[in-house]
Amino acid sequence: MCQHQGVGFRDGDGWVLCTRCQSRHWGLFGAAGLLLVRTDLEVPSVLLQLRAAWTHGGGTWALPGGALDSHEDSVTAAAREAFEEAGIEPEHLEFKAIFSDDHGNWRYDTVIAHTTTDAGAYEANAESEDLRWVPVEDVGLFDLHPGLRNTWPELIEHVKTSLQN
Ligand SMILES: [Zn+2]
Repeated sequence: MCQHQGVGFRDGDGWVLCTRCQSRHWGLFGAAGLLLVRTDLEVPSVLLQLRAAWTHGGGTWALPGGALDSHEDSVTAAAREAFEEAGIEPEHLEFKAIFSDDHGNWRYDTVIAHTTTDAGAYEANAESEDLRWVPVEDVGLFDLHPGLRNTWPELIEHVKTSLQN
């Protein structure tokens, strides 16, 4: 949900009034997030970002991500946002699957990737209050951003499938 204050122009920045759930979503061309699973730990763990209080959905845990630019696909956007927000280095990512939450005139793509290192994760910009590697089974215990809260029961199944390969 990167809003790019001070970062520069992005042509996907803006709100969409959703025809399905009647709420506002960020990203004129949709949005994407990176669900990064670290597989070198004792239990596979997901990178969660505590969003800074001033951001949309601030004070809740979410995936690094944000609006697609018009020329970007979901994988490109998710990787770019993860780098900007959390310092994630793309060469450490092994892309596994994309889960689409399609709202009709807006869509959120969750890009599932694996890494065998910390991928360089750190709080790279002011949108990240904290970053944590959370065991897959514990993610649901966190105070999640509503978008992630709604899709997590489906996402966790995709994560488990990705770990079986
Ligand atoms: Zn919607």
